[in-house]
Parts: sequence; structure tokens; C-alpha cells
Amino acid sequence: MDILLENGAAGAGVCEVGALRPFMTRRMSERMAALPFEPLCAIVGSFPFFTGEDNPSGAARGGMIAQFARAADYHMAVFRRVSAAAGAMSAAFQGARFHPLKNGWPLPIVEAARLAGVAFTGRHGLAIDGTYGSYIALSAVLCDSRLPLSQPLGYCNGCDGAPACESACPTGAISRDGERRVFDRERCISHITQNSDSARLETLRLTPYIWGCDICQQACPHNQNVPKTPLPEFLENVISRVRPSGLGGPSMPTDRHYSDRLHLLERNMRYTGDGNE
Ligand code: SF4
Repeated sequence: MDILLENGAAGAGVCEVGALRPFMTRRMSERMAALPFEPLCAIVGSFPFFTGEDNPSGAARGGMIAQFARAADYHMAVFRRVSAAAGAMSAAFQGARFHPLKNGWPLPIVEAARLAGVAFTGRHGLAIDGTYGSYIALSAVLCDSRLPLSQPLGYCNGCDGAPACESACPTGAISRDGERRVFDRERCISHITQNSDSARLETLRLTPYIWGCDICQQACPHNQNVPKTPLPEFLENVISRVRPSGLGGPSMPTDRHYSDRLHLLERNMRYTGDGNE
């Protein structure tokens, strides 16, 4: 755990891979079976990415980018960190094998973070850190040895029966069936902005977002006054809004989550009203 913390994780903990099996899809199980060894434990880490500005407005124009995508692609940035950690673990613990995961795949990473005591789970289905709220990326290093397990965390208290995230979502993607949480991914603005064939593009008119969405997270009490990330890759060259003239131009960085899908940003701008400069 210390090695993950030394490599930039805000929180780290260990859970048993066997305890995650009931939460794995068939595709996850197949990918697990194809790994270089059978993992017994996952060393899970959380990496904060909050850039410090929530909804820039005023003179700023253009389609909004969600927090997770405002700087370097978190998949790659976090993978570099967990890969370095896995290398250091291999050197420190000879005889055990370690394997870094990109974006936590193929673990059900939110559940892994909860069981590893790294982050509790919110009603919106995202992992929540006590300091950085849900503005965290998760990943893990798998290990073929048995390690001391961390104390699991639980779930948020649902805002005492009136979930703010549920009320804030403009499309009703988060709801309840009795006490059971229901999440309709097809209604989620974040999913729609990143999906090439969503049938619900018209709902993009309801928000300024052209990549991802932070609305349910902004409503959450655990995301109020969170500090900026200390990780430099998420503070450099922050882009919160994109205008059509910036798409693909020389000022557009090539290291973004959306870099190979600029056509989707352009499409989404037509719905948010940012398509005309
Ligand atoms: S807004 Fe309330 S119900 Fe939703 S995740 Fe945050 S604490 Fe839980």
C-alpha cells in the first residue's frame, strides 16, 4: 500500500479478488482468466483529478468538459503510476508477482475500492474519497500472494433519504426501486456524450457538457470544497471548455481522453448550442 501512496495515490488498500467474483461480468471473468497469473489480492489506489475550477463561466465560452477529462487522459496517467508501483513492488517483494491494471479493468473497480477501504460507494454509483470526493480515478495492482486485507468501507447514507445526486440529474438517470439503486446508463449525459450511436442525443440540450458530465457529482455534499489534486499531470494545460475553432487546431492537446474522438465533441456541440462560434 505504501508503494502506491509513494506513487501518487491519495488512498490505498488491499482486498481479496475472490470477494469480487460475484460482481464480475462474464467478460471481466474471461479477461481475469487470461492474465499472466491467478491473482489472489488487489492493491487498490485512488488518484484525485479535481482541477480546482468547477463550472467556469463568464467570459469563457464553448462546450463544457467534465472534470475527469480536463487535463491528461486519466487512464494513461494513472496507468503510468500503477505500473511504476508494480515495478517497485516486484523489486521489494521477490517471489510474488504483481500486475498493474489500466483503469482497474477487469476488476469491478468501485466495489474493489470499497472492499479495500479506499473509497465508499455513492448513490450515483461512483467511489467517494473522504478528502477528494468522487473526483478520483481508481486503479489497482494485482498480486498472486495473500496480503493482509484492509477494512472495507460501506455506502453513502443517501443524503438521509433525499439523494441530492438523484434530484440533480436532469435526465433521471439515477433513481430507486424501493431501497435498490437504479442507474439507467442510456440516460446518463456522460455516457451519451461519449457514445457514437446514442438514441438520446436530444437530451444533450439540457446541459452545457460535450464530454462527460459532473452534475450529480456537483450536487453531492462530499464534493463541496474539495482540494485541488496534487498530481501535476491533472493541473497542466487544463481545458474546461472547447470551442469549434479549437477542435483539432494546433492548440488542441493530443493527450486527452477525447483526443481520438473529436468528431463526437463536434457532434455534441450541435446539441448544446456551442456549434456556432
Ligand atoms: S449526493 Fe447524497 S445520495 Fe448522492 S452520492 Fe452524494 S451523499 Fe450519496
